[in-house]
Amino acid sequence: MSTVELDKEHSVYESMAARFDVAAQKLNLDPGLTKYLRTPNREIIVHIPVTLDNGKLEVFDGYRVQHNIARGPCKGGIRYAPNVTLDEIRGLAAEMTWKCAVANIPFGGAKGGVVCDPSKLSPAELERITRRYTAEILDYIGPERDVPAPDMNTSEQTMAWIMDTYSMHVRHTTTAVVTGKPLDLGGSLGRREATGRGCMIVTDQALKRFGRERQQTRVIIQGFGNVGGQAAQLMYEAGYKIIGVGDMFGGVFDPNGLDIVALSEYAAQKKTVKGFPGGVSIGTMELLEQDCEVLLPAATESVITSKNAHRIKARILTEGANSPTSAPADDILFERGVFVIPDILANAGGVTVSYFEWVQDRQGYFWPEGMVNDRLKHIMVAAFNEVVRYGEKHNVNNRIAAYMLAIDRVASTVRLRGIYA
Ligand code: NAD
Repeated sequence: MSTVELDKEHSVYESMAARFDVAAQKLNLDPGLTKYLRTPNREIIVHIPVTLDNGKLEVFDGYRVQHNIARGPCKGGIRYAPNVTLDEIRGLAAEMTWKCAVANIPFGGAKGGVVCDPSKLSPAELERITRRYTAEILDYIGPERDVPAPDMNTSEQTMAWIMDTYSMHVRHTTTAVVTGKPLDLGGSLGRREATGRGCMIVTDQALKRFGRERQQTRVIIQGFGNVGGQAAQLMYEAGYKIIGVGDMFGGVFDPNGLDIVALSEYAAQKKTVKGFPGGVSIGTMELLEQDCEVLLPAATESVITSKNAHRIKARILTEGANSPTSAPADDILFERGVFVIPDILANAGGVTVSYFEWVQDRQGYFWPEGMVNDRLKHIMVAAFNEVVRYGEKHNVNNRIAAYMLAIDRVASTVRLRGIYA
């Protein structure tokens, strides 16, 4: 049972902490270790002075939270948004530790963010913010320390600026300092599609368990950006029936299935799926409550809460976004028999191919796309099976099983390493 009070259920940190507490208790984790793993290693707050295009000086707040480095360097995205808070970044950083452990890749977790509204900033202003933010956190990042990646409103271009700024300071080109880079700067083939592909791989595994074919499976996707857009295209090509898609401006629905190729062309032009003539218009939150087999939230946090969880009709919830479901909603979904593929498993495809990118950069030797996709599938299928088996063995839902598996792995590393000094 979740212990989050309902007025705090939108807090990513509170939901993460509530799940952590349940999992740690079920693992019978030592109280000292519980305290250690619940707390971030380091929280960096920076104030970034930037000259705007109009000549005025502005100061932006930035964060980088490094949650845990027991299993390897920190790994986690950087987001730019007006509503970024330290609390949110702290929760997402911890989730990255658990995600890397579920995927069994050698990283700890981190997350970063800058409080700014990218829609009101020019590319030149965004470049200056990025470079100064990088300079401010420079001592704490690096291929062996902490490896950032893109997240909401940051892109391959943002990673290129970070890589360049870092390289100028250390006096040599260091591609492995960030992942999610452009291909020409040490990016990996398959990275752009990786999170969406990972979502499809775990959904395929769930269908296998239920003896269902892709062709009979209706899917609704919230978010049509990197994760949702790629998932929609890959799942459509693979035979799934995508009946609804929404973004921050609105949604489109057709119970007989949308033409995702035409929708992608429309969205590329209009910058939204809203108004697509190949379906009827629908509100983006209303979309979540439509009848379907698979619901794939791939937009933002806390869209499934105690307010709407009892109206979710999907049988499988594949969490493409980070923290789309609040802890109180977990209990409702579980009671209703929804098979939840939790974010720290479902969207781990992105960080897994980021791991491949980091390995390739360090080797200076790049893999063909087929190899990237095969190795991604191998990791995602193994992680799915381990989480589901763990849940069956301990009689807990998939979310708590994923947390237990992850905490168990990190705790075991900490025990082996011991606590320094
Ligand atoms: P993005 O910016 O490329 O796309 C976000 C999409 O969600 C857009 O279509 C936007 O219109 C829509 N959206 C935003 N707010 C919305 C709202 N309130 N209601 C409905 N739609 C809304 O971002 P992305 O990279 O696709 O990331 C989406 C989510 O997936 C985030 O939670 C992110 O942290 C998570 N994630 C991303 C990756 C990755 O590799 N990009 C990996 C793991 C997790």
